[in-house]
Amino acid sequence: MTNFSEAKEEVKKAADIVEVIGQYVELKKRGQNYVGLCPFHSERSPSFTVNQNKQIYHCFGCGKGGDVFTFWMEYHNLDFPQSLKDLAERYNIQLPQKRDLYADKKKKELKEQLFKINDLAGRYFHNILLKSADGKPGRDYFSRRHISQETISNFRLGYAVKRWDGLLNYLKSKNCFLDKAATAGLLILKNNKEYYDRFRGRIMFPIFDLNHHNIGFGGRILDDSLPKYINTPETPIYHKGYYLYGLDSAFENIRKRDLAIIVEGYMDMLVLRQHGISNVIATLGTALTSDQIRRLKGYTKDVVVLFDPDDAGRKAALKSFPLFLNEGISAKVVVLPQGEDPDSFVNKHGSDAFKKLLERAAPIFDFYLDQALANMDTGVDGQIKILSEVLPVFMQLEQGATRFLYVHRFAEKTGINEATVWEELKHQEGKRTNERDISQLKSRFSETQDPRKYGSDLQFINLLLHYPEKIDTFRNQEWELIVSDPEIITIIKVIMEKFPSEGNLDRVEEFLDSPAAKEQLRVILMSQPFYSEESVGQAVSEFEKKIAKVKISRSIRKASAQGDMEMLNRLIREKQDLDSNSKSVTKPKQDEKFLSN
Ligand SMILES: [Zn+2]
Repeated sequence: MTNFSEAKEEVKKAADIVEVIGQYVELKKRGQNYVGLCPFHSERSPSFTVNQNKQIYHCFGCGKGGDVFTFWMEYHNLDFPQSLKDLAERYNIQLPQKRDLYADKKKKELKEQLFKINDLAGRYFHNILLKSADGKPGRDYFSRRHISQETISNFRLGYAVKRWDGLLNYLKSKNCFLDKAATAGLLILKNNKEYYDRFRGRIMFPIFDLNHHNIGFGGRILDDSLPKYINTPETPIYHKGYYLYGLDSAFENIRKRDLAIIVEGYMDMLVLRQHGISNVIATLGTALTSDQIRRLKGYTKDVVVLFDPDDAGRKAALKSFPLFLNEGISAKVVVLPQGEDPDSFVNKHGSDAFKKLLERAAPIFDFYLDQALANMDTGVDGQIKILSEVLPVFMQLEQGATRFLYVHRFAEKTGINEATVWEELKHQEGKRTNERDISQLKSRFSETQDPRKYGSDLQFINLLLHYPEKIDTFRNQEWELIVSDPEIITIIKVIMEKFPSEGNLDRVEEFLDSPAAKEQLRVILMSQPFYSEESVGQAVSEFEKKIAKVKISRSIRKASAQGDMEMLNRLIREKQDLDSNSKSVTKPKQDEKFLSN
């Protein structure tokens, strides 16, 4: 392989976009396309569309789209060189060795360095746990919690010794850049001169991304001191609101079982995994975020969350409820018997009993209401408290049937007058400035952007893209006279200039700078041909006539301005001829919807 663009083409040929995206987004065949729920924005009915023939994707909700590389970069939050590398590896394609061609080489290098340092530290913690005398407290802890050797090695669990310089000395002995280890969150710089270990006397849980890079750690203290957990802070490679613990080893099983189980702690997850429950993942010491939920919905739309049956659990459930609902995920909640956590429960009763509990999972809002009602003060005070807790959540729900349903159910269960709830909601809504409305407006707007409204512009470019052999016919004509949409003009210019020298119309996007033009191109590429094989010839001659007419009109204006009566008469006759010839306008075959759904 001599250069990157060859390698890129090679990967493009080898990779199947449906297979690549299908690994992360559940795709269903619909007409000539595949559709699924967009991983990049919040939606409940699929507008994320993948076209296998053209090897492109496009979301009709948020406008994101591109080819297999764009997807990989966007989904995994990576730059192009890294994406090329990942996909090339996946399809066994060799890359040229020169890497310094890219401007963001530095950034990528830093990321790779951080992966390496984490990997090094992870091995160090793991070895201490397995082999060192210093690791005994960790080993004792895991054996007390019935964690097997197999689990310890599968999840590369470790132990950080209770010293200020355990990892520090190890990294020094490996000639590791200490400032980079600080960037990775492993060391802390004190008074601007001395480094010390962030994790001390803690069980270590390495966290991996979907490509199995070690991106960070969770550290749990062994006794009752606080804080119970310390996690890697935000770093260039670690974002706690984005990743889920164990997703790298669970996502295939989540898809297979069409169910994801979310628990709150690392240990809970490990114990459940050890009992054969392979579709369980954990949050990273924070409340669930919509980013996490959005990632998950590529694998399943059924989620069960384990919340503790207490005040904190109730509030966490309430908080996550609108996030799930707005992503179209039907989340349920499992409540363990009082005093049990998943760990103690499954160790005592086994995994079958746990699976039975899963079957009895309650919808998340019902769980919240039951908990809230059980703890509600009697009388008006209690009602006001619960109403104030629930109003901000209702406001996060999209307006319409769903909100109506939940307000109704809430009123019914709490005995609060439904009209009061609506009144309060209206009042609260008036107070806020609202991004959501803007995004809804945007999505409504994009829905009304029916491609047919572009009329002739769109028909013309559709003809060029679907019948590229006709491009030559128009190359030397003044086609700009019949196209008015600026994005479409840009696209056609590229086609006229680069085709057939580039030979391959699939590459047009590479020559476009404006995102709007790229988006427009994808929409057109995904559309079906307007004209059938039989009618395309006539369509071509009508577009030619149209150009001719605009030209004549232009000349007529010129002749009349110059007072050239003879010329004017001739032109008007010509125009009449053209008009009478084109009475039978070829209608595009376009009765069905623009996109085949
Ligand atoms: Zn989208």
